[in-house]
Amino acid sequence: MGKLDGKVALITGGNSGIGLATAKLFVAEGAKVVITGRNQTKLSSVAEELGSNVHAIQADVADPASMENAVSTVVATFGRLDIVFANAGIAAPTPIGSTELSVFEEVLKVNVTGVFFTVQAALPHLKEGASVILTGSTRATDGAPERSAYAASKGAVSSMARVLAAELSPRGIRVNTLVPGATRTPIWKQSTHDEIAKLEAKHARAIPLKRMGDPEELAKVALFLASNDSSYVQGTEIIVDGGAAAAPLGAPIYHQLD
Ligand code: NAP
Repeated sequence: MGKLDGKVALITGGNSGIGLATAKLFVAEGAKVVITGRNQTKLSSVAEELGSNVHAIQADVADPASMENAVSTVVATFGRLDIVFANAGIAAPTPIGSTELSVFEEVLKVNVTGVFFTVQAALPHLKEGASVILTGSTRATDGAPERSAYAASKGAVSSMARVLAAELSPRGIRVNTLVPGATRTPIWKQSTHDEIAKLEAKHARAIPLKRMGDPEELAKVALFLASNDSSYVQGTEIIVDGGAAAAPLGAPIYHQLD
């Protein structure tokens, strides 16, 4: 028996990284999954790879009409909607002193407005026991330079989850935030030219578990939040970052100072 037997999930940004790993795990646990993204080539290849329990829809989270259309397709295809993983996000750098308004606004539009309207589009179909998962980031709180818009957007996501949990608790709908630390996904190409190995060597020094995370490790926590295993977990966030936020002094960089 799978943990998500009979359930239908919508995963935004399901054609890459954390969303893709989660789509694979959800299907393995018995769910039917609709993935969205903008890149049709990646959407088609994932749908082909994962088979008939996955349906791919091209939809831009920054366009509420496109998300409403995606939700209608979920219900038309699989008959219901139980889990919303509002995971799509972008990470463009916004250094103070040289940032264009359009770049700053795009980050907020995708990461904040897009998340809100994804949940709003899904809401008419969500019933008692439904689970909404938002993707935050440890960047919300770690003060990483040149990340004003991204950090603000992810802080907003965690704040928004608390409000949504309050508003949707009377309907028995849970809303929580999954908060990844540095994870090995293609998102890093947006903000660095470093090869992944070089990036990891840099980041690992500040992570007590001495490595970046794999998207599959995030997917397992998304599964927990999506399933009834987390039936009393509401309005909170789960940080999955190898200990970087909770125990920074356990990171290798401090050992090297001894
Ligand atoms: P990723 O592989 O780049 O995935 C991002 C996904 O978002 C892609 O599927 C992308 O699909 C989709 N997306 C971006 N803009 C979109 C838009 N306007 N409309 C629809 N889909 C859009 O990166 P990831 O690391 O898995 O990112 C997933 C989430 O985790 C993001 O919210 C990110 O901020 C968060 N996160 C990642 C890390 C990390 O270290 N990797 C750490 C903390 C938080 P298309 O390109 O096809 O649109």
